[in-house]
Amino acid sequence: MKVGIPKERRPGEARVAASPDTVKRYRGQGLDVVVERGAGRGAAIGDDAFEKAGATLGSAEEALGADIVLKVQRPEDDEAERMKEGQVLVTQLDPYNNRPLLDKLAEKKVTSFSLELLPRTTRAQAMDVLSSQANLAGYKAVIDAMARYTRVMPMMMTAAGTVTPAKFFIVGAGVAGLQAIATARRMGAVVSATDVRPAAKEEVESLGAKFVGVPVDPGEGGYARALTEDEQKAQAKMVAEHVKNQDIVVTTAQIPGRKAPRIVSGEMVRSMKAGSVVLDLAADSGGNVEGSKPGEVVETEGGVSIIGASNLPARLAPAASTLYAKNLMNFVALLVDKDKGLTVNKDDDLVVGALVTEGGAIVHPRLKA
Ligand code: NAD
Repeated sequence: MKVGIPKERRPGEARVAASPDTVKRYRGQGLDVVVERGAGRGAAIGDDAFEKAGATLGSAEEALGADIVLKVQRPEDDEAERMKEGQVLVTQLDPYNNRPLLDKLAEKKVTSFSLELLPRTTRAQAMDVLSSQANLAGYKAVIDAMARYTRVMPMMMTAAGTVTPAKFFIVGAGVAGLQAIATARRMGAVVSATDVRPAAKEEVESLGAKFVGVPVDPGEGGYARALTEDEQKAQAKMVAEHVKNQDIVVTTAQIPGRKAPRIVSGEMVRSMKAGSVVLDLAADSGGNVEGSKPGEVVETEGGVSIIGASNLPARLAPAASTLYAKNLMNFVALLVDKDKGLTVNKDDDLVVGALVTEGGAIVHPRLKA
């Protein structure tokens, strides 16, 4: 049985779905691995390192033709077109936003798994790509916001006077937000954060940040739900009051399967002083901040920079790939049985939870038409 690692084709995607370490492990399980030439370049993994680990180097055609195809990004149209009946694809399909691709994979009778759909259970943690990548994104968000900020992060007491520390506000204290809090704290900023999930308050405080706002009753599976109109109004009032005194705001709020909630309005941005920075980590999924553009920095007339973050894990490709590859490997272990070969075990909640297409149809309960 062959595992294929194509080079990622989406613009800006530097990660790769395998590492020398995971190649070694696949080989140890008796699987052959074919890596497309140059697939690891963006993640600083040379072809020689993959070869040394036991992989064969090949063409895109060969990598995409393997029994199990592993990818970071969903296939491009031409890649999906080339896939064949019975192949297994494990990746992130962004399934709520890519219906035509799901239809195409079903039509091609590909067995596809989308790891964003894994239930957030303890057993799934080792395969949780959302967490491994969001953690890095939260860190990088703070680094990027700081790089744009022309004042100083920590308090500095010097003979020439005292420099006050930056005030840093994190909206959304999930995996990315908590890492953003920890990173900003390490840099000496005064950090506050908000979230709608009740559990977030304690997590924020345990990292030494101040929690602001009033959490609402939770949504499903530990995720946030969309707020009612009244709740949104109350949140907007609180955020408006708080944001005008902040130097840097990083927003990370998401609701699975929906457009990101709009939390920071243009008016709130206008209330901030010149030189402030707002970084929108949700820019790719609709944006928490009015006026943010994915991959761009917009400077307002009032001198506030709005950074529309786009695919930050790809900008930390070596670390992001190592963790992502390990997540995939742990998931693939559920599909490969030493005696039975490739199996889709319908009794395994993780396998069923991530299964999107099989036998010519879209089978995931949340995605069926
Ligand atoms: P996410 O990326 O879906 O959202 C980021 C954060 O934004 C969340 O904390 C969410 O509550 C918050 N948010 C959504 N709407 C908001 C709004 N209007 N205002 C303010 N904040 C808002 O979340 P995530 O980082 O994937 O984490 C989601 C949950 O899953 C968390 O409870 C996390 O602890 C849990 N989790 C569990 C496991 C596990 O047990 N395997 C692993 C990872 C995460």
